[in-house]
Amino acid sequence: MIAGLFKFNGGVKPDTHKNESAQTPIRTAPMPARLFVPLRQSARTTARCIVQPGQKVLKGERIGVPDEFLGTAIHAPTSGTVIGVELHTMAHASGLGTRCVIIEADGEDRWIDHHGFDKVDATREDKLAWLRDCGVVGLGGATFPSHIKAGRGTGIDTLVLNGAECEPWITCDDRLMREQPADILAGALILQELVGATRIVVGIEDNKPEAIEAMRAAVKDTDGDITVTAIPSIYPAGGEKQLIRVLTGIEIPHGKLGADFGVQCFNVGTARAVYRAMAFGEPLISRVVTLTGNVEQPGNVDALIGTPVTDLIAQARPKADTNRTLLGGPMMGFELPAQDVPLGKGINCLIACSPSLFPPPPPEMNCIRCGACARACPADLQPFELYWFSRAKNFGKAQEYHLFDCIECGCCAYVCPSHIRLVDYYRFSKSEIWAREREKAAADAARDRFEFRNERQEREKREKAERLAAKAAATKAKLAEEAKAKEGESGADTGAKAGEDDAKAALIKAALERAKQQKAQVQAKNTDNLPPGVEAQIAEAEARRQAELAPEVPAQDTPPDAPEKQ
Ligand code: SF4
Ligand code: SF4
Repeated sequence: MIAGLFKFNGGVKPDTHKNESAQTPIRTAPMPARLFVPLRQSARTTARCIVQPGQKVLKGERIGVPDEFLGTAIHAPTSGTVIGVELHTMAHASGLGTRCVIIEADGEDRWIDHHGFDKVDATREDKLAWLRDCGVVGLGGATFPSHIKAGRGTGIDTLVLNGAECEPWITCDDRLMREQPADILAGALILQELVGATRIVVGIEDNKPEAIEAMRAAVKDTDGDITVTAIPSIYPAGGEKQLIRVLTGIEIPHGKLGADFGVQCFNVGTARAVYRAMAFGEPLISRVVTLTGNVEQPGNVDALIGTPVTDLIAQARPKADTNRTLLGGPMMGFELPAQDVPLGKGINCLIACSPSLFPPPPPEMNCIRCGACARACPADLQPFELYWFSRAKNFGKAQEYHLFDCIECGCCAYVCPSHIRLVDYYRFSKSEIWAREREKAAADAARDRFEFRNERQEREKREKAERLAAKAAATKAKLAEEAKAKEGESGADTGAKAGEDDAKAALIKAALERAKQQKAQVQAKNTDNLPPGVEAQIAEAEARRQAELAPEVPAQDTPPDAPEKQ
């Protein structure tokens, strides 16, 4: 069955340690007393909380809604009471906190009313929105929202179903394929329709013969073009690009995705979650997780999202010398920063570690430029160059050497004779670059805000000045108009007054004239018709009288304007 397959470069063959946990059926994990449901469940965003402390919730009730493009909904995993919405350590190497809805279980596990998707008159967008509202994300570890991935509905020819599960110790997908192959295929058919693929290829590592058998048996009951292919057990055959390469021969170049070449890839657990969401309206509130390592009872459990990891590990009965817990496999996983972190949708495995089972790594030595890491790298990178640039904090150069194509598979560190923990350096570089980009984005946003504020203030100042100028101009114009109006009024008044004055003057003149005439008429006439001698005497007397009445003539030596003597 391997004939016709392709090979990817690099890869390693570590001990698989699959048998420890793959022998027993999936158990249902007991209900914890309290669930800490993280609002951050999809890869890059958190959901907006819609419940309050004290609120009663039912199983499957929505407690967080998608806020952004990459968001998905979050649901109560059981019925109970919300007793807080608080920061809680998240399952991440950083040990940082994330907001969690804390639900105290009432033990009744009562479901909210739910039903399958109503296909009548439903569009493709309706189906994608349904998946988003059911909180379905990729269960292979990346927790990328499935409705976004399935939303790429053009140009996809092949849907690859990833059942490779190549990391050592992890067996949750193996058990799921053995126990629920029909559900997985039903989900794959839904995804096939959404992406518009013409065929489905299921890739399973050949160290899982029971899973291959179960899936092939289930395919017989379907009508679709589905092929179940056993692939060589070479780590990391389950990496998306590596699996696509092995199954289809397509080499996805740096910076490209499978969808750019007509292939879309989904994990088998994701396909099952899609089926449950569409067929029954069940939101993603639980997942299968492998409990293994230094424990008495390894196996797989179906656990509610938000279950404290301590509760889960306790069920597997860790041995006395257990000293830490790994989240994920030993190649790509990391040590849990705290034991009480809650189960998230992307957690597929918890490994109890002991010093004998996982001895501490030998001290790092200098890189001897042997090139073993480059030969092992499935992403065709130059790990030792990335190491040097990361160590020197030359992040620009690290990016030039395709740091972000590194899938952190750990093959390079696994083969390094100098025991250099190469992946830690790459993670450090990536987190620094992201942090700087975040800082830059924040600084850009602050600068934009500052410039916007300045611009707004300038605009307001300008508008105010314009308003004042307009107001001043209006006032000036109004005053001018008023002055003009007044001027008109006063001109008319002056003319009328002048006319009135003239008339008055004429009247006065006439009156004076009349008075003069009357005076003249009333003057004595006893001098009329006198003899000439008498008249002469009278004239002489009159002249004397006038001379007596006339004012004194000032002396000749007195200046005309001299002050009068007192
Ligand atoms: S395998 Fe280790 S020692 Fe060899 S080149 Fe790579 S980093 Fe250097
Ligand atoms: S961890 Fe990165 S650099 Fe190392 S082998 Fe894997 S892909 Fe290559």
